[in-house]
Amino acid sequence: MECPVCSTQDVIEIHHRLPDGSEVSFFTCDRCEEKWWMQGDEGLTLEEVLGRSRRPQ
Ligand SMILES: [Zn+2]
Repeated sequence: MECPVCSTQDVIEIHHRLPDGSEVSFFTCDRCEEKWWMQGDEGLTLEEVLGRSRRPQ
């Protein structure tokens, strides 16, 4: 994975499983501190991740 901002490959990837069972990856860049989320090849916004992290009523 390459940072979308500074293009370095020094990024840290952390896997998360959301309460709905989906697997997402959190990335953080070592150089510019950009942070982003992906599910498979799809980018996720923080709002989407937080929305899915809420347990259904
Ligand atoms: Zn970066």
